[in-house]
Amino acid sequence: VNTSVSSHVRLFSTSNRCMTIMPAWVIDKYGGNDALRFTRNASFPIIHYPNEVIVRVFAAALNPIDVGMRGGYGSSTLSMKRDPLNIKQTGSEFPLILGRDVSGVVMERGLDVKYFNEGDEVWAAIPPWKQGSLAEFVVLSANEVSHKPKSLSHTEAAAIPYVATTAWSALVNTGGLTKDNCAKKRILILGGSGGVGTFAIQMLKAWGAHVTVTCSQNAEGFVKRLGADHVVDYTAGPVEQPLSALEKFDLILDNVGGDTELWALGLLKPWSGAKYVTLVTPFLQNTDLLGIADGMLQTAATMATKAFKHLVKGVHYRWGFFAPSGPALDEIREIVDAGQIHAVVEETFSFSQVPQAFEKMEKGHARGKTVIQIS
Ligand code: NDP
Repeated sequence: VNTSVSSHVRLFSTSNRCMTIMPAWVIDKYGGNDALRFTRNASFPIIHYPNEVIVRVFAAALNPIDVGMRGGYGSSTLSMKRDPLNIKQTGSEFPLILGRDVSGVVMERGLDVKYFNEGDEVWAAIPPWKQGSLAEFVVLSANEVSHKPKSLSHTEAAAIPYVATTAWSALVNTGGLTKDNCAKKRILILGGSGGVGTFAIQMLKAWGAHVTVTCSQNAEGFVKRLGADHVVDYTAGPVEQPLSALEKFDLILDNVGGDTELWALGLLKPWSGAKYVTLVTPFLQNTDLLGIADGMLQTAATMATKAFKHLVKGVHYRWGFFAPSGPALDEIREIVDAGQIHAVVEETFSFSQVPQAFEKMEKGHARGKTVIQIS
């Protein structure tokens, strides 16, 4: 596919604004990799609210949610976010642009945007109900955007926002960790070698925590180089045995899910405020299967039951979610520019190779991030 993005095409202009088309990878229906379609005629993003900015995308990255969304994961909840009054027809989300990470340059800003100027280099994680970054341009709220770290290239910067804001939401907002209270804390990361894990290890080490990580044997050296203090190989047998021989933990970040929550909470220090935060939740699956109302009820009931069951044993059970946040990225930029967090780019693809990048994601066994260079 020839995906050169030299220029977008201006169609017409009203006052100062014009509508244009742009190159993008889109899907027109949910499905496998064959649902991905390259087009030069995707709608150019429009500033609808005065606090929005249009960003020219230099680099994007993929996350497991992109593979899921390509197949329809979360479509009920995301459609409700896009169209809360349910006015539009089924399928109005198409053509849908995937891609949650962006590093690029502000091209246009709404009248209320004071913190960013045209030409500023920025990075952001894009909420999944918005059009994504596998395109030449993307529109975002200014409060989702942050100035990009000066020490990183666009390719490196695109590897960080989605996993970083997810880790921030889980560890800081839900887990209660801060740079000032981590020094004596023991943290366990289940699944340390992927996007979220490689970021979380570095942030927690920058904040002085003791970090234990589970991963495959062939990723042990990799996570140690990122700062992990202790590594447990999950491919050698059930990890609960070696982990339960260790001193108990103050917080567990679970990037793996499945049956981990059956044993992991027993590894926490009871009656000390210790928390288990899992990123693998049934929330979107429930709303996909049961519809919004029943799915949300089911989710709330499950969450409350599990939280109560563990609370009486003196530990806290929580779900963690991605939360877009420019201010969180501002704080993360400082740690990055201080040289304490490095971008972990496993593989880089060109804009014409987006389907190959998805194939790589689907194979699993990530060791950091898969990045797409857009322009
Ligand atoms: P990645 O695909 O980047 O990484 C997953 C990593 O886990 C891989 O390195 C994989 O390597 C490793 N792994 C697989 N099985 C195990 C296991 N049993 N024990 C230890 N490690 C294992 O995913 P992300 O880091 O981006 O995301 C992690 C999880 O969090 C995903 O399930 C994702 O969907 C979820 N998530 C949820 C969010 C939310 O809002 N709730 C937001 C972001 C992510 P290998 O197979 O070689 O061991």
